[in-house]
Amino acid sequence: MFALSVEGMLAHIAMDYVLLAALVGIVVVAVFTVRGAIRSQNLEKAAREDYEQALAQGSIPASLYPSVDLNTCLGTGNCVEVCPEKDVLGIIGGKARIVNPTSCIGHGECHRACPVQAISLVIGSEKRGVDIPLLKPNFETSAPGVFVVGELGGMGLIYNAMNQAVQCVQQLAKKPLQKISGVHELVIVGAGPAGLAASVTAKNENVDFVTLDQESVGGTVLHYPRQKIVMTRPVELPGYGWVRLDTIEKESLLNIWLDIVDRVGLSIQTETKVEKIHRERGVLLIETSKGALRAQRVILALGRRGSPRRLGVPGEELGNVTYRLIEPDAYTGKRCLVVGGGDSAVETALSLVEAGALVRLVHRGKVFDRIKMANRRKLEEAEEAEMLHICREAEVKRIERDAVTLSIGGKPHRFRNNYVIIQAGGVLPKSFLESIGIEVQRYQGEVFAPANPS
Ligand SMILES: Cc1cc2nc3c(=O)[nH]c(=O)nc-3n(C[C@H](O)[C@H](O)[C@H](O)COP(=O)(O)OP(=O)(O)OC[C@H]3O[C@@H](n4cnc5c(N)ncnc54)[C@H](O)[C@@H]3O)c2cc1C
Repeated sequence: MFALSVEGMLAHIAMDYVLLAALVGIVVVAVFTVRGAIRSQNLEKAAREDYEQALAQGSIPASLYPSVDLNTCLGTGNCVEVCPEKDVLGIIGGKARIVNPTSCIGHGECHRACPVQAISLVIGSEKRGVDIPLLKPNFETSAPGVFVVGELGGMGLIYNAMNQAVQCVQQLAKKPLQKISGVHELVIVGAGPAGLAASVTAKNENVDFVTLDQESVGGTVLHYPRQKIVMTRPVELPGYGWVRLDTIEKESLLNIWLDIVDRVGLSIQTETKVEKIHRERGVLLIETSKGALRAQRVILALGRRGSPRRLGVPGEELGNVTYRLIEPDAYTGKRCLVVGGGDSAVETALSLVEAGALVRLVHRGKVFDRIKMANRRKLEEAEEAEMLHICREAEVKRIERDAVTLSIGGKPHRFRNNYVIIQAGGVLPKSFLESIGIEVQRYQGEVFAPANPS
């Protein structure tokens, strides 16, 4: 009797435990489900805000970007997850949408990850066409002797830019032209990933070449935010070997570029802008900001960022004016005027604040309506905390070594100042290409097929 009641009691206790465990399980699942739902709701809310802002701005990426067929999209979110830049796509109403177009740099992972092929990679949009030079399979443009490689030809990404450049120079080296005294065999314009790879290959092929860049070695990579994680694939550079790239910080990548320049023995003419190219007595005349050169062939590896837009004000030629910020720490304790109203200007101003500079940000508009949400939030916080001074509806009128004159709301104001960093966008290479006689095709959202030498 006693033994039975003990068994009974044990059975009861066991039953209670099972019920308790089941209850705990249900609560845990419910908590996770609710948290998951709240998280999805928050993500969707943020995605919707970004999407509406992107629509209002009409901004589109410079090179390849995803176009989602909403009838086919199942909203699995695979495309959102795989994007190396993280915030390009979002799910809104069960469908994938581009919510941060300016973050897209054309990795194409979304296209590959979609289980129902709802994503195609396109260039341009109906409202904002993108002009891509027409290229033959060997990368030659409609201007004889002028070739285009890298992002300017429509193919973004470091890996693509470098590979195209290697292929282009190897093909040219197979068809050498009769040498002419005083005329280079090749001039390479641009020392970004494409120009650098073209230069290494030209050196390896014993081509007589010159490389010019309006800035310095690195191209667009120089302008990435600090410590940006760069994702790319290994590339083989003839005469240097494999560049084992995968996931690397911007700063380490720039060190690799410098190692390539050093080990291969490249001499790159920096701070030299190519302004005009035309044919003269059978050869190409390349007019630069530092004089003219003659060449039999030219490779344009200009990228798509263009040349920095200048303000055209007195004093802009002074040494304390720059168009890019490489090392914010160099400005610690200095008075800096940042000019511009876009993400680049705001990010520059914020990184200078972080480095301990005294920052004044000058914007022509009343509001910063073209910038990413995250940047807007950070800017508002910094302004509220009086960490920087913002001059709205303001323009630079004059730059001096130790002062600047601004027009604010139409009235002149002179401030003490050490450096001016201008981030007023770029002048795109379209008119430059047309002046050389290169035919371009306008893409307005069509799928893009790049030049392919094989
Ligand atoms: C924020 C950001 C993040 C990115 N992240 C990645 C990434 O993680 N992985 C990846 O693979 N790609 C990434 N990309 C894309 C990649 O940077 C570009 O596709 C690549 O740099 C293109 O190389 P390019 O040599 O064709 O052009 P660029 O790198 O743009 O180089 C062009 C060069 O030409 C020079 N130039 C232009 N005009 C003239 C002129 N008239 N005279 C003389 N010189 C001139 C410029 O100064 C510049 O140095 C990113 C891009 C951005 C903006």
